[in-house]
Amino acid sequence: MAKGLPKRSEDYSLWYNELVKKADLAENSDVRGCMVIKPYGYSIWEKMQRQLDDMFKETGHQNAYFPLFIPKSYLSKEAAHVEGFAKECAVVTHYRLKNDEDGKGVVVDPEAKLEEELIVRPTSETIIWNTYKNWIQSYRDLPVLVNQWANVVRWEMRTRLFLRTAEFLWQEGHTAHATKEEAIKETEQMINIYAEFAEDFMALPVIKGLKSENERFAGAVETYCIEGLMQDGKALQAGTSHFLGQNFAKAFDVKFASQDGKLEHVWGTSWGVSTRLMGALIMAHSDDEGLVLPPKLAPIQVVIVPIFKKDEEKNAIAEVANKLKKSLKNKHISVRFDDRDTHKPGFKFAEWELKGVPLRIAIGPRDLENGTVELARRDTKEKETVSIEGIESVIETKLNEIQESIYNNALNFRNEKTTKVDSYEEFKKVLEEKGGFVSAHWDGTPETEEKIKQETKATIRCIPLDAKEEAGKCIYSGKPSNKRVLFAKAY
Ligand code: AMP
Repeated sequence: MAKGLPKRSEDYSLWYNELVKKADLAENSDVRGCMVIKPYGYSIWEKMQRQLDDMFKETGHQNAYFPLFIPKSYLSKEAAHVEGFAKECAVVTHYRLKNDEDGKGVVVDPEAKLEEELIVRPTSETIIWNTYKNWIQSYRDLPVLVNQWANVVRWEMRTRLFLRTAEFLWQEGHTAHATKEEAIKETEQMINIYAEFAEDFMALPVIKGLKSENERFAGAVETYCIEGLMQDGKALQAGTSHFLGQNFAKAFDVKFASQDGKLEHVWGTSWGVSTRLMGALIMAHSDDEGLVLPPKLAPIQVVIVPIFKKDEEKNAIAEVANKLKKSLKNKHISVRFDDRDTHKPGFKFAEWELKGVPLRIAIGPRDLENGTVELARRDTKEKETVSIEGIESVIETKLNEIQESIYNNALNFRNEKTTKVDSYEEFKKVLEEKGGFVSAHWDGTPETEEKIKQETKATIRCIPLDAKEEAGKCIYSGKPSNKRVLFAKAY
């Protein structure tokens, strides 16, 4: 089953692609850059969605839905925004096809040209702020705390399953506030929620920080992000939260009458995470045998595999297995009893290993006699024989242990792969030989960042929110700097 999965150490990129396909998560489609998310992959995404959605709602947000198409003129209302997104927009120009001349195919009907072309949303600030104009008149209408679950299209040239696709699934929150302070508080709240989700559910340690000007969202005043480190030492931006200032309110003329009767522009935020999180999850924890899923996001947390030769053994094992399945379900643990007759136990072991099921229970005839089962952990591959009596609480504890241990491994890895440097020589050497995050002084200018990027391919992943004041010199220009930023090569 796992045969044919390349080793991470040999070709990380190929390993990732093969794993995504072999574990039945997703595959490429005939449409360039667009993927098919298969049921097993989609069920992990659904678990992510459900958890995030709960967290959004707990903090007062509501879901709504806006159109897929955005009139072209809307996009150009915010100058920086259009500048950033124009290069990757899919544009609808016609609304009808007709039979071609020899009647064998269809062509675009030139008579069905749209008066105003439509953009397939790359993000929805424009159409949403155009709507907010009608929703917001006075301070009583604020705040507006709306989230949308949707697909978006960005015509990416270099794509990779989940990490960067031309169409992707995401959520985008769009909020409107009466004051700057409140909007900044919202922006920070959402990056904290993303970090909490990444760490507690994905078992992925992340650095919270601010983007430099070069990496900032087009149209934002400030972009907050969470950055994770993948096993090949490359960084991945896992989520962003933007403080939009009054930029979109000004572009779409969204004003409100304040409590003291003045007419003021509204303050805005937007924030999003996408199916890229799936890529982060896979890349952060998995090994040469396949996926390693944190129990909190695993669609199947425990798989039971029967081992038998004779039919009466099979029936007796099934009885025990079904009973166990029921009692685990009562504890809200998701269980699959793999009683397929079409496959041998060895095949099933490899398949569930590939699919990252955190715990495997094997039950054979001898176990029945002894009242035991064999319990195997996916992450450490440890096996032990445990009594079936009281196994539910053993499993609960183990699932928690696995969740924690996957997180700790990723954290240790990140700590090992974070290096402080004080010279450009050292910087280049670390990037070349070790990879990971490089913590260095930078003079704060886009020019220096761009030069470093051109010379080393490393970018500033973020200015960490917890960066301490520290007098130093920019590794590139030697100009003064008062804190370190994190550089890395990134996806
Ligand atoms: P942005 O609107 O650019 O701040 O992006 C919002 C979220 O979508 C971020 O978490 C990005 O990591 C993610 N994202 C951006 N582009 C893509 C893409 N092409 N495929 C998948 N996720 C993406």
